[in-house]
Amino acid sequence: MTPWFNLPDASECGWRLPTSGEQGKSSGVPSVAIIGAGIAGLSAAFALQRIGYHVTVFDASDRCATGASASPAGIVKPYVTRQPSDAMRFYQNAYAVLMDWLVELGDASSYSEMGALQLKAEGYASNDVQQIVNAERASDIAGVSIDESAMWFRQAGWLSVQVLCEALLADVQRHGATFTPDHALIDLSRADEQWQLSFQQQPSAYFEHVILASGTDLLNEQWLPARTLIPARGQLTGFKNSTAIATVISGRHYAIPDEETLWVGATFDRGDRDTAVRVSDDDHNRNGLMDMLIEDCWHDPLIDETPTAHYVGVRCTTVDRFPLVGPLPDFHKARSVYQDLHHGRNPSQYPTPKMQPGLAVLAGLGARGVVASPYCASLLSDWLTGGHQLRDANRWVSPLRNLIRELKRQA
Ligand SMILES: Cc1cc2nc3c(=O)[nH]c(=O)nc-3n(C[C@H](O)[C@H](O)[C@H](O)COP(=O)(O)OP(=O)(O)OC[C@H]3O[C@@H](n4cnc5c(N)ncnc54)[C@H](O)[C@@H]3O)c2cc1C
Repeated sequence: MTPWFNLPDASECGWRLPTSGEQGKSSGVPSVAIIGAGIAGLSAAFALQRIGYHVTVFDASDRCATGASASPAGIVKPYVTRQPSDAMRFYQNAYAVLMDWLVELGDASSYSEMGALQLKAEGYASNDVQQIVNAERASDIAGVSIDESAMWFRQAGWLSVQVLCEALLADVQRHGATFTPDHALIDLSRADEQWQLSFQQQPSAYFEHVILASGTDLLNEQWLPARTLIPARGQLTGFKNSTAIATVISGRHYAIPDEETLWVGATFDRGDRDTAVRVSDDDHNRNGLMDMLIEDCWHDPLIDETPTAHYVGVRCTTVDRFPLVGPLPDFHKARSVYQDLHHGRNPSQYPTPKMQPGLAVLAGLGARGVVASPYCASLLSDWLTGGHQLRDANRWVSPLRNLIRELKRQA
């Protein structure tokens, strides 16, 4: 691996590891503050508590899941590409971890395992996770007419992201974690081998370790270099569910049938952070759905229906669409150490990046954050307990990679 993506051991990055037998809140147990109670922060809380950290979750809001994770309907499905790819492997691992967590959380997760049909199946083959079905079979599964072959993911489905977050929070609180709402982090400084966390209109707090999982707040260049994250607004439109759609259907758009509401989505507007509902987005979603399905399923024409519900959120994505996971480098040092990368010097002459002690990030989850979060959190906990999974994935998820890409391209 190129030196700038070498990942040192957790202890070299200032992380104190729980020793076996330590559990819950007692003096010997290392503590971690997690900033953000969306799916990223709560996944990190769930994973780190399992390995023995005492976890405190802070959120600027008065409750969990008010940002991108407030979505009432998120698809849970493996990501597949026609040819094997790094992204496909990454998201298949992620899907497997999420499915384990959903089993563990049981009904509290709100998971509806109704399966998912993915249209545009040309060039794909059946395997353990997906089955190619012809138009007739696809129509039987969907409950409405589909005029093309499709990929059928039997174990896929959907869930309320907000309810999943509430389930994760309830679980970690039951096991001793603390949730501190109404705490907006405004600054972090290092003193006496601890992080001082400064909050808006609240007293400071001190922690050995901090994980930043605060979604769009990380667009602020105080935390990460410019352009590391990219905001992308998305709108879901809910219609009264008068259709017979019996499964999740996805193509360029998607439809998720809840009992009362047919959720249709989602728009994806890069660079846009506006959270106001847009009529033009409702039209876009409605037309996208109509394009996906052939007309005879519209006995009760949705085209004339007024939306009954909306959800608008802003997710953060990255240039390469992989998330950011792992210890946070000292970006100022990294910029000066790697600044001449564009001269094409031999990579082996560069040192491994220096990390900020006891500080990590989990962000940039993009449009597949529900599926990716548990896996990203488990990569972090595996690294903290001496495993190699984060090291193996580091070239894709390193928080440093965008800066490296930019330095390499610099004229
Ligand atoms: C319209 C839409 C549809 C989507 N559909 C799917 C889907 O079908 N499947 C899928 O897998 N994914 C989907 N996603 C993506 C997924 O929802 C996101 O990737 C995920 O919710 C991001 O979670 P997060 O925890 O990183 O951010 P957030 O949920 O935004 O959480 C960040 C938290 O940090 C808090 N915070 C912010 N600043 C501070 C601060 N200074 N101090 C303390 N706390 C702070 C916020 O209050 C918030 O609670 C969708 C997203 C959108 C917007």
